[in-house]
Amino acid sequence: MAARVVDILVPVALDQTYSYRVPVGLELTPGDLVAVPLGAREYMGVVWADNPNPSPRLHNRLKDVDEKLDVPPLKAELRQFVDWVSGYTLASRGMVLRMALRMGEHLGPGRDRVGVRLSGPAPQRMTAARVRVLELFADGLTRSKGEASQEAGVSAGVIDGLIDEGTLETVILPPEPVASQPDPDFHKPEFSLAQLAAADTLRTTVEQGGYTVTLLDGVTGSGKTEVYFEAVAENIRRNRQTLILMPEIALTAQFLDRFCERFGVRPAEWHSQLSPRKRARTWAAVAAGEVPVVVGARSALFLPYADLGLIVVDEEHDPAYKQEDGAHYHARDMAVVRGSIAKIPVVLASATPSVESEVNARRGRYRHVHLPERFGGAHLPSIEAIDMRREGPPRGRFISPRLAEAVAVSLTRGEQALLFLNRRGYAPLTLCRACGFRLQCPNCDAWLVDHRFKRRLVCHHCGFSMPPPVECPNCHATDSFAAVGPGVERLEQEAGELFPQARILVLSSDLVESIERLRQELDDVAEGRFDLIIGTQLVAKGHHFPKLNLVGIIDADLGLGNGDPRAAERTFQLLHQVVGRAGREEGRGIGYLQTHQPEHPVMRALISGDREAFYKNEIEQREHSGYPPFGRLASLVVTANERHTAETYGRTLAKAAPKDDQVRVLGPAEAPIAVVRGRHRFRLLVKSPRAFDLSAYLRAWLAAAPKPRGNVRLEVDVDPQSFY
Ligand code: ADP
Ligand code: ZN
Repeated sequence: MAARVVDILVPVALDQTYSYRVPVGLELTPGDLVAVPLGAREYMGVVWADNPNPSPRLHNRLKDVDEKLDVPPLKAELRQFVDWVSGYTLASRGMVLRMALRMGEHLGPGRDRVGVRLSGPAPQRMTAARVRVLELFADGLTRSKGEASQEAGVSAGVIDGLIDEGTLETVILPPEPVASQPDPDFHKPEFSLAQLAAADTLRTTVEQGGYTVTLLDGVTGSGKTEVYFEAVAENIRRNRQTLILMPEIALTAQFLDRFCERFGVRPAEWHSQLSPRKRARTWAAVAAGEVPVVVGARSALFLPYADLGLIVVDEEHDPAYKQEDGAHYHARDMAVVRGSIAKIPVVLASATPSVESEVNARRGRYRHVHLPERFGGAHLPSIEAIDMRREGPPRGRFISPRLAEAVAVSLTRGEQALLFLNRRGYAPLTLCRACGFRLQCPNCDAWLVDHRFKRRLVCHHCGFSMPPPVECPNCHATDSFAAVGPGVERLEQEAGELFPQARILVLSSDLVESIERLRQELDDVAEGRFDLIIGTQLVAKGHHFPKLNLVGIIDADLGLGNGDPRAAERTFQLLHQVVGRAGREEGRGIGYLQTHQPEHPVMRALISGDREAFYKNEIEQREHSGYPPFGRLASLVVTANERHTAETYGRTLAKAAPKDDQVRVLGPAEAPIAVVRGRHRFRLLVKSPRAFDLSAYLRAWLAAAPKPRGNVRLEVDVDPQSFY
């Protein structure tokens, strides 16, 4: 009888599976993890399907599966999700599978934890250090070697010496569990009536189970977290796993604490900063069903949950959910897909829902739960415009007199103020006063940004950096450089002069030394150890700063003029969220928008507090122009070492597009940032109606078109979020 054959997917950039023979005596079912030879290497792979009819000719040339790995199989649910994501985004199935196998090389039994305890008689020779160790262990407890040497204040050698003499003995400790069991009733809050109604709806949704999507739409400070925790509690009671997605896990220290206050234990974390060992152990524990709740960044969607029962996407509007390298996917959208495949509820939470989710809720495709008021009677901040055309600051300054006055008042009251500017560094442009020469990145079509704290000029696209030059490379004038425009570092300088007594903190992602340090700084702000915070969008996200009552937006127009179809939405969301940091406890928050266009619909909606006006206007415009969610978009980005090559391939590609009345192909056009990392860039934009299968169209197109050759690369981005 011929050996059984299975098709195996390997986590490399390939779409197809490979057939392998199953050696006699090996039991394999779809989902099993295996080791297989491929080319000259051995790979980990996943049995994707049985192959009942391999062609006989092929059969004899097939290789054998090497071994089955001792890990729970990937469930059909996850395999189906991998296929779906690949089909939709056009990322190869192997690449998508790779995201589900990000447990590193550390599978299998972990390194044992070794503990030390007292066992035999005191040693022959006593030293002061040994006495300290013996005193420590007199309590009869077991400690790890590290703890012991630290607590006794001795070197590891002293401990080893005592083990050698038989005074101490080593024992194997059980592995620390990745996560402990949360108590759904540990600390239930007293809900307001509105919160109670919302929490009940969510709890019922979980109780009834099945696939649903609920948009939890509540103003900043309304208690969305407390409310969706009730859904999580219900899911914990049902012994099913919960995934809570966060846009940026680095910023969630406060969140972990709140979870702990509510449920008595911390949840498991999943993000790119986990150590390899922690990653492997968490992956395995999630697969074994030993982790009740995972709080994670977008990659947590691809974990092998044993029994996922609920997904919460917090700050669902956040652009950070879009992954733009490797596989291009939007984690919020894929969370909804995962929910539908697993047949479980999905909760999307935001104070400023994406236009996509808002439309889905309005059309009844999603359930809609509202929290229209802040908790505890706090008012939403009032917002005023400062018209920079009439009341702007003096030349070379960026804080208008009215904003400066307001900050001064709030500082004398002992309250905190936040100045928001979404620009890292000191100045976005440096030019020579003598000849007008601008310092540009040698690899990109971009100016170098002056970062004075680091004493470097930095390219924000490729990371190129250099010390500030002594003389102008063009006219050789010395001391001729002038900084143009503000970044947060420059703002700090100005604020330092205006408010010399204030304790100022600059929060910007490029200044973050470590997540721990950042968590500490955010904590310092929450505890009132700073008076004035100057920050980029790092400060916009979900933080709760009780003493903060004033927010000043230095350049409210910054995101509006970049030709991005989502510019208005992004600006509205970002500014609304930032201003929403004000007055969360006291309810006397105020926001100032420094703008050159106070009449712009986004500014008007923010100032009047009329969110509805913004959505109405934006939804109408999207519908009119056929932009998402009323139509579909995909972008194709061609890059090459020479401009001509990129453009030529872009043209070839456009010509090969299948004719279809429903599809419009725009371009190729040179990208707004024409060169990045020395690569010339051209873009094509593809538009279709909503009901059209754009992924299938793209697949047919790319299959028929000539493949990119030489150094030409093609990136496909379905539902693009950035257009640079
Ligand atoms: P949102 O996420 O909607 O901005 P949060 O969930 O962060 O709001 O809640 C804002 C603040 O109000 C938090 O400090 C939270 O602990 C508090 N809060 C909300 N609801 C309650 C409640 N029912 N009882 C006590 N505190 C609450
Ligand atoms: Zn560059």
